[in-house]
Amino acid sequence: MTPRILIIGPCAAETREQVLTTAQRLKDRLAGNCQAIFRAGLWKPRSSPDTFQGVGNEGLAWLQEVQRETGMKVATEVSNTEQAEAALKAGVNYLWIGARTAANPIQVQLLADTIRDRAEGVMIKNPVSEDAELWIGNIRRIMHYTPNVMAVHRGCNHLSCWGMAKRIREAFAEVPLILDPSHMAGRADKVESLMQAAARLEYDGYMIEVHPHPTEALSDAKQQITPEELSAILERLEKLPKDTTETELLWYRAMMDEVDDRLWDTLAERMQISRKIGRWKKERGLPVVQPERKAEIIEKRLSWAKTAGVQPDTVRNIIEAIHTESVREQGN
Ligand code: PEP
Ligand code: MN
Repeated sequence: MTPRILIIGPCAAETREQVLTTAQRLKDRLAGNCQAIFRAGLWKPRSSPDTFQGVGNEGLAWLQEVQRETGMKVATEVSNTEQAEAALKAGVNYLWIGARTAANPIQVQLLADTIRDRAEGVMIKNPVSEDAELWIGNIRRIMHYTPNVMAVHRGCNHLSCWGMAKRIREAFAEVPLILDPSHMAGRADKVESLMQAAARLEYDGYMIEVHPHPTEALSDAKQQITPEELSAILERLEKLPKDTTETELLWYRAMMDEVDDRLWDTLAERMQISRKIGRWKKERGLPVVQPERKAEIIEKRLSWAKTAGVQPDTVRNIIEAIHTESVREQGN
């Protein structure tokens, strides 16, 4: 399964040498049968002001060198109109709007009005919160000016939020859906399995952070991979047998697996609280089972079930199972 679009390069441009080496090594290792765009952040909207904020305008010349030396198109992130103007003037081919900026539709509108149709394409990441409507609205704001919009799915707080991406696929069949496994996982060792999942879901491509020496990266060191690692991953992806299961079912399974992850994390959290309660009761010589508390929990959940449209028997059966396990935990 060969991706149609690859947006690859370091999280941030750090030095001229790092940018050019990465680009050259990527160029040398790519099969050349897909559209490869070189990415590098120049203005980094990081969560903490104490971390590396990017080299700024200085890096524009390095991106121009990448264009000249490798023939690759280049992309950078813009968070405000000044940055967009500077990047467009320097001939940056593609601009992308990051997850933090995507949380603010006013800023996205300002950027859309500035960029208009002056870039070859605009990539818009999903907003940091799981808000499909906001992502859809942002895509429409950009599409108003440029037909070449790509939706970059980077997840929220290390959750994949597959359901949100499915909504985008359904709303805009013609918009390429790109997976950013680097930011979704936040860990280099998970990049490949996420790419495989996206390949099965028929994503159009990937945005991947690549650095010649990931551990020395000034930002997102844990999630970056080397150009050689990327090329090995792409080779294995190529050989991945085609899954004959209907794509629609695969989407539902991805969504369900993610809900299960959350469900089991929540159950584990509940068990931990239960153990604390168990110790508290033991210290005071109180019995583990308190029937009035169990009745209260069931009562509360049954009234919730009415509004949530869940069968009362389902609620009773699940509470019984959870309660039995909870009592066992408290007894230990
Ligand atoms: C990035 O791509 O380097 C970046 C900052 O990503 P995000 O906006 O998804 O956090
Ligand atoms: Mn990054």
